[in-house]
Amino acid sequence: MFLGPPGAGKGTQAKILEDRFGYRQISTGDMLRRHRSEKTALGLEAQGYMDAGKLVPDDLVIRMVEAELANVENVIVDGFPRTLPQAEAFEALLASKRLKSVAVIFDVDNSVLIERITGRWSNPRTGRVYHEKFNPPKVAGIDDEDGGPLVQRPDDAADVVAKRLAEYDEKTTPLIAYFEKSGAFVHVNALGAIADVTRAIIAKLPDVDSGSAA
Ligand code: ADP
Ligand code: AMP
Repeated sequence: MFLGPPGAGKGTQAKILEDRFGYRQISTGDMLRRHRSEKTALGLEAQGYMDAGKLVPDDLVIRMVEAELANVENVIVDGFPRTLPQAEAFEALLASKRLKSVAVIFDVDNSVLIERITGRWSNPRTGRVYHEKFNPPKVAGIDDEDGGPLVQRPDDAADVVAKRLAEYDEKTTPLIAYFEKSGAFVHVNALGAIADVTRAIIAKLPDVDSGSAA
């Protein structure tokens, strides 16, 4: 479980570990954006919340994750859980499958988040992210991997970002104490360069390179 505020670098690190060690990234943000662009019932219901920078209601997100996790293990869950009810539902789901989890808590300073988020460019098809300054693609606006177009997310505009950070502080930060008390967890310094953060995650999770950190 990757836990940290928007812009902490969770998606970036999830893709690196996916490419390098064969984990599968499950990003609830990417899933919701896919539902949204395909105009599914869930997507239509979620879009107003996403545009406003608010969390999508728990029951919708929990059902979506339960369906996605039906037959998988060795996953990096990125952006979920984000509330206490989501954390409880996730733990119950893992227990029913006899799976273990570890919370990787991205420690970051709020001062870097706005610059990271407002410079983010992503591939809507794959969820791969770049940064115009910190991790630019070889050709501006084009994904190095699949040549697809990169876009800026509407909810990465500064006014919506402020709302998203407030939602994080109010609803998601209590999960840090929750996992510190009840589960396996590690803290990772997410302030350094992308490669340094990857090294920190691998150092904290000794089994990560065997695809079985959890
Ligand atoms: P999250 O998934 O936590 O919202 P992302 O992985 O999408 O965050 O990263 C947010 C932005 O910051 C992206 O543009 C990404 O390229 C950039 N980024 C990620 N990690 C770092 C880092 N360690 N240093 C500088 N920029 C980073
Ligand atoms: P992200 O891509 O993780 O930044 O998420 C983008 C948006 O999707 C959030 O601002 C929420 O509106 C919604 N979202 C993603 N994951 C969750 C979640 N676990 N619970 C509720 N809303 C979510």
